[in-house]
Amino acid sequence: MGCNANKSIGCTVHQCQYHCGSENYCTLEKINVGTHESNPSQVQCTDCESFKVKSN
Ligand code: SF4
Repeated sequence: MGCNANKSIGCTVHQCQYHCGSENYCTLEKINVGTHESNPSQVQCTDCESFKVKSN
């Protein structure tokens, strides 16, 4: 069963329910990226806000 990889959104977060699985891409058409910091200064400060943990 192939997934609907969006080649414009690379992602390695396999724990997300929207991850393609076999390929390192997101399957969503669009994602939101945000930050949990008041003054982000490093890559670690940014988050994919479309992340949803894979159930079971
Ligand atoms: S929603 Fe975000 S974390 Fe989840 S697969 Fe897509 S890009 Fe990755």
